[in-house]
Amino acid sequence: MGATSGTHLAHWPAGLPRSLEYPDVPVGAILAGAARRFGARTAFHYAGQDLSFTELAAAAARFAHGLRERGIGRGDVVALHLPNLPEFPIAYYGTLLAGATFSPCNPLLPPDDLAHQLDDCGAIAVVTLDFVAAPVAQALGRTKIKTVIITGLLGEPDVPGLCDGAFAECGVAFAEIGAGRPDTPPEVEIDTADLAHIAYTGGTTGRSKGVMIPHRNAVLCSLQYGCWAAGSVPALDEAGGLILDQVGALEEYPTRLGTGVLVNVAPWFHAMGTIAYLNIQLLSGNTVIIHPRLDVPAFLADMEKFQATNLGGAPALFSALFADPSFETLDLSAVRGISSGAAPLSVEMLNRLQERFPDAVIGEGYGLTEVTMGLTANPSNVSGLRKAGSVGVPVFDTQIKVVPVEAATVDDATPALPAGQEGEVCGKGPQVMAGYLNRPEATAEVLGADGWLRTGDIGVIDEDGYLFIVDRKKDMLLYNGYNVYPRELEEILFSHPAVANAAVIGRPDEKAGELPTAFVVRSGEVTAEELLAFVNEKVVPYKKLREVIFTDEIPVSAAGKVLKRDLRDRL
Ligand code: AMP
Repeated sequence: MGATSGTHLAHWPAGLPRSLEYPDVPVGAILAGAARRFGARTAFHYAGQDLSFTELAAAAARFAHGLRERGIGRGDVVALHLPNLPEFPIAYYGTLLAGATFSPCNPLLPPDDLAHQLDDCGAIAVVTLDFVAAPVAQALGRTKIKTVIITGLLGEPDVPGLCDGAFAECGVAFAEIGAGRPDTPPEVEIDTADLAHIAYTGGTTGRSKGVMIPHRNAVLCSLQYGCWAAGSVPALDEAGGLILDQVGALEEYPTRLGTGVLVNVAPWFHAMGTIAYLNIQLLSGNTVIIHPRLDVPAFLADMEKFQATNLGGAPALFSALFADPSFETLDLSAVRGISSGAAPLSVEMLNRLQERFPDAVIGEGYGLTEVTMGLTANPSNVSGLRKAGSVGVPVFDTQIKVVPVEAATVDDATPALPAGQEGEVCGKGPQVMAGYLNRPEATAEVLGADGWLRTGDIGVIDEDGYLFIVDRKKDMLLYNGYNVYPRELEEILFSHPAVANAAVIGRPDEKAGELPTAFVVRSGEVTAEELLAFVNEKVVPYKKLREVIFTDEIPVSAAGKVLKRDLRDRL
């Protein structure tokens, strides 16, 4: 028998059912439930201003009416080209309440990539910020966009070429779009099979593809992780709003619903941001302090000032926080829950976090845009179920298996490799995407019959059903025909006291194919020779690191992924 792991797992958080009952409601039900339950509590805080759950729901409803009056509704796509600002959740929920589909864009995308995305998803409206709007103005002519909704970083939006002249007819100030409209959502038929998100993949190989996520998937993935983190089950309030009911013991799920505070920098345009740091924050009733970009001293000052109970994001955030000496001395004693995702959390970093926050529950999730957000998570460490270095077990109603990388197709009949053997990680569950937009061939390459998705990640499932991600298939190096996974070498480098950060890539070599080469950011005195010796005594000969290059920083994307492409360019 191969190691397929799903709901038969022996290791399961105490008090939680194996399977959830998912109410068949659209994403707007999350907002409605939060507004009724958490009302006047602050949902978002930015630049000294508070937006309560009630105000958020009213603003989103007005935004939805504004879209409807411009003829935007079911079947239409509204692109959000915004950094994290209070306008983001208003426009996100407003778009969905209007019955339209949300397509998030990284505001730092170059104009050409932005034009591709806006055109590919067929957006007819875009919401942007004056400060980052220049690429929108350049891309517009190549898209079907008829309405540009602009907000201003410092009050009235001001974009040369957008607010004056060229796009005057289609431009509308964010503050205007819903002004004077009703505070309750428009009456709109929304089927939970309608698309809620068209999210674009990182696009490290070729053009990025639009991932189709129906309302049903977005709601259910928010519940798979929200219920897991809060020890709860979904319920509907008397008016059909989606809420969580606490079922797990509070000492294991220490932030009671409606009491948490999160200082957030994880971008909402990325899958983890939209689900974990937007929808799940509403389900949990947390107050989110918005930081549109990472300014470490300001971030830490807010964590102390607002007595943050939660800390979450990609591992690059934690490295940045530890690099600031005040991280060790500030009063961050309110932190109860820490979550990591989007990139591998090294065991070294996990240990440092646990040492800094001995009372906090540290969770790690694993996933990709193609599964709405995730497939697995570590069970809470309080019940002793967490395994260091593992991304945990499949969340509710999800199965994973590891198959040979060369498998032609993956379906229910494809045998899983035995526990402990490396292969490609595949996942199946109700959160798996509906497919790539307008790309049946690309969809067929990753999504097999029976709904199994190939993740493109290499991993191992152990005897207990825990998944360990070895590396991404495309980051693997070939040294003299042997597979070398950079992550193994990176983990060893991280364990050296003078290494602050590191990334390993292959230097093309005529004889060997690729030579494992490390970029290292130092935090103390160490030479390249010492690091080579430190790593190489711990690995078999073909995995040996051949070169160490010192650098000031390891480039990471806004979503927190190491940009190995940029490092390869440097060679
Ligand atoms: P994206 O779709 O942009 O979120 O990228 C998904 C990819 O990020 C996955 O295929 C993994 O390679 C990587 N990833 C996400 N979460 C983790 C994790 N916890 N550990 C290791 N890699 C991760």
